[in-house]
Amino acid sequence: MNDSQIREKIEHLSNPVTGDSLKDENRILSFDVEGETIKLSYDRTDIPPAQKKELESQMLELLAQEFSEDNIFILPTSVKQPIETAKQTEPAKLKVGHGTIGEKKSIPNVKHIIAIGSGKGGVGKSTFTSNLAISLKNKGHKVGIIDGDIYGPSIPMIFKKRNLRPQSNEFQKIIPLENYDVKFMSFGSFIHEDEPVVWRGPMLGGVLNQFFFDTEWGELDYLLIDLPPGTGDVQLSMTQNLNVDGAIIISTPQDMALLDARKALHMFDKMDVHVIGMVENMSSFICGDCGKEHFIYGAGGVGAACSELGVGFLGKIPMEMGVRKGSDFGKPYMENQELFKGSSVWNAHEEIAAKVDSYFNPTDNKKKGILSNLFGRDKH
Ligand code: ADP
Repeated sequence: MNDSQIREKIEHLSNPVTGDSLKDENRILSFDVEGETIKLSYDRTDIPPAQKKELESQMLELLAQEFSEDNIFILPTSVKQPIETAKQTEPAKLKVGHGTIGEKKSIPNVKHIIAIGSGKGGVGKSTFTSNLAISLKNKGHKVGIIDGDIYGPSIPMIFKKRNLRPQSNEFQKIIPLENYDVKFMSFGSFIHEDEPVVWRGPMLGGVLNQFFFDTEWGELDYLLIDLPPGTGDVQLSMTQNLNVDGAIIISTPQDMALLDARKALHMFDKMDVHVIGMVENMSSFICGDCGKEHFIYGAGGVGAACSELGVGFLGKIPMEMGVRKGSDFGKPYMENQELFKGSSVWNAHEEIAAKVDSYFNPTDNKKKGILSNLFGRDKH
């Protein structure tokens, strides 16, 4: 079979919910063959997890006739608005208030933009963003962070650059702050720490656009966007002008946090941002005295939710005092090789960074093997 014959066969598969073919429902969004790799993305809107699984295993079966399983990437995306949430997402305010819903733009010389979100605050999103940035840097990448958490911007603290305001250059471009070879822009650098939050609506959009497009980022392999917690219009205004290449959702294994994480997942679906996977933070606590592992927020909740939702599971990070201290004292955990290299928290971050990296650069077959479990394959 050649590529177009396989595509045809895929298009003839039917949506298990409606019985109509994927072609009739216009669900195949892209079908890209690059060498021995096939990336297929399709619109999964209104297809519940069980039927989605069924459909994807049919796709996989067809694709596996021509491609090695490790080289098959099936990317489910939600394009149309899910019917049950359509009403909630209609307030005109979002469109009017934030102005320009136009062409999404990329940032010149920035290769990959990743949004990092959580359903609620306090789950370790900023801490994880910082440590992921450093893990990617440790792998030789150039990395930047946009701290979009208007409610509690903490990146300047984590990177030991509190109370510093970025300067602009002769071309009126803002020069981001930098430490540990990671560049960053934060709302926290422009407001007093005890000032009330005044960034609202169009103003917020304007400032973010400056962070995106009027900042001298130079060449970056990865730009991580630390989103505010929740699923409000702030998040929408962050992604409506920018081409975001993927999202990561972080949650604790606790039921409440997970419920919110699901909302975050649907939000990214609606914004047409592919969720690379979820991370479980504070998955357990290893007692320094007795060596026992305690599952304070329950065990394995995020992995289970990922299976149910058909989202990749990127890994779990235990609780460790050094993580909290690193953030508070301005030297992120992953910057502290001498003390922490080889610990379970260290290894967890390295593994997650490797998965993220492989998602964007799937050149190494072994890594692709890990990755084939990540997308729409529900093998957790
Ligand atoms: P968020 O950005 O989601 O609001 P933070 O990154 O500010 O959360 O984290 C909340 C608190 O939890 C901080 O004090 C942080 O240092 C701590 N923390 C986050 N992850 C861990 C972890 N794996 N182990 C120990 N403390 C952690």
